[in-house]
Amino acid sequence: MKKWAPLLFLAIFCVAAAQTIAQAKKSADIVLTHVTIIDVTGGPTLRDMSVLIAGNRISKIESTNKFSAPPTSEVIDATGKFLIPGLWDMHVHPHSPQDLSLFIANGITGIRIMWGDRDDFASRKERDAGRLLAPHMYIASPIIDGPKPFWPGSISVSTEAEARTVVDRAKAAGADFVKVYSFLPREEFLAIADEAKKQNISFAGHVPMSVSAQEASDAGMKSIEHLTGVMQACSTLSADLDKASEADLDEHNSTGERFFEGPHVHAFHEQMFATCDPEKATALYDVFKRNGTWQTPTLTLWRMFSSINDPAFTVMPALKFVPIRERQSWDPANRSNQSLAENTALSKPEFQKDLQLVAAMQKAGVGILAGTDTGNPYCIPGFALHDELKLLVQAGLTPLQALQAATTNPAQFIANENDFGAVRPGKLANLVLLDANPLDAIANTTKIRGVILDGQFFDRPTLDAMLAKVAALANRKPIGDVLFATIQKDGIHAAVDQYHLLVATQHDGYDFSENEFVSLGYRLLHMQKVTDAIEVFKLSVEAYPQSYNTYDSLAEAYMDHGDRDLAIQNYRKSLELNPANANGTKMLQKLLAQ
Ligand SMILES: [Zn+2]
Repeated sequence: MKKWAPLLFLAIFCVAAAQTIAQAKKSADIVLTHVTIIDVTGGPTLRDMSVLIAGNRISKIESTNKFSAPPTSEVIDATGKFLIPGLWDMHVHPHSPQDLSLFIANGITGIRIMWGDRDDFASRKERDAGRLLAPHMYIASPIIDGPKPFWPGSISVSTEAEARTVVDRAKAAGADFVKVYSFLPREEFLAIADEAKKQNISFAGHVPMSVSAQEASDAGMKSIEHLTGVMQACSTLSADLDKASEADLDEHNSTGERFFEGPHVHAFHEQMFATCDPEKATALYDVFKRNGTWQTPTLTLWRMFSSINDPAFTVMPALKFVPIRERQSWDPANRSNQSLAENTALSKPEFQKDLQLVAAMQKAGVGILAGTDTGNPYCIPGFALHDELKLLVQAGLTPLQALQAATTNPAQFIANENDFGAVRPGKLANLVLLDANPLDAIANTTKIRGVILDGQFFDRPTLDAMLAKVAALANRKPIGDVLFATIQKDGIHAAVDQYHLLVATQHDGYDFSENEFVSLGYRLLHMQKVTDAIEVFKLSVEAYPQSYNTYDSLAEAYMDHGDRDLAIQNYRKSLELNPANANGTKMLQKLLAQ
């Protein structure tokens, strides 16, 4: 289950990135003069300052009247502008290079990727080599889940020994931390915690249903995402809820049914929010504080669940930056999101309670991280972080505290305050220049005049050009739909010809992403049109010859067709490109045993 393939995009994207980089101001030294610096560490706002950026770092900050700019530097008059550190979105799932551009255009110069795969590690390498325009990345292992993982492609563990091995592998693969998930059994979760401690790597994610939020925190969980387990632990009914969770987990493990709130916990749903015990809550927050367990509430995600039925919510202007295919899948009018819509009524009071919890935790001194869970419906990369900041303020944080959740707190969390987190000499020059003071109104973080990424200045016209490119790509017609219509009407050969004509003559007019071929191929497989599917996967191989996933899909179609040799050949090719392809390994073994 591959998300995207940066290396394959390079041919297209490198051109775009190179152009953008060329348009960005490139002089060695940049000086911002007459700027107002917002001290996100809580110090006084500094007016009429000059900031010298040499290479990729902030080298000097002084009053403008005392400051003399080096003769070769490029001076940017920032009178009336406000400078804040580059923002971090601490919970994202980028799907394409365009998502990375959206982060930068919105002043997000750092992201924590919550499901890391080899593509993410590859993009980080490209980024560090200066070949990919992207924010700094702090990257998780793949999702580690129990015997019946929620998401296909997760790493499933069923024994303590397996749990320890995955920690080992995550570390070897270069992950910054291990991502744990909801359906991990207790013993395996605790084994991960123990092994992580031994290996000196942190773990974070969902509090599994098999443990309480206190236990997860005591076991050393570095951050809890989406407030998982928090409400349950605060409730006067927590003992009953813990039992209900266990029953749900048993049910999940025997039926494989996918749910986040299983039937047993669901029976308590309304009571859970009404039975929050202030004393229990205080004790829990003390545990978080003592253990240094951070919270990433992802209010943007929870608001989406509680608002998706509201037409005023789903018309957000930033949708034009989301690919048509994804937009379709988000639309509550489509059946795939029916269950989301049905749950809206239940989610509304829950969301209000989430806001209260976040305010209470901030007050109690629990570390809060701004994270959005982009990739989910209406959580649009880059834009969503500004929504999250607004929601944190709506919850009761001050604008300064909200800013800290996206600046100083992430720097502290990733243990790199040398490079990140504040506007100070010596730190990397990741900065956002605003037209208005974000401490007056948090919405002012959206009034972006310029972004500085590792010392490189992107002015407003450059950011607008980046956004226009993303919008143009997002609004291309999905090729899968076009080819499907042709297959229905004139057959597969006409569709193959049409593809070749369009890719040669109207390359920019259609969305030729790998997922278009994969989805179309599987759509045909499900319709028992196996030979048509094979032709579509062949097109995919032609377009994406370096993608293990595309060979895996072709192999599957050959297998369905009874072509054992061709299936074996393509699974082998897939494994050659990605030896970690677990599905490929399994299928190949099966075929060879026949
Ligand atoms: Zn997530």
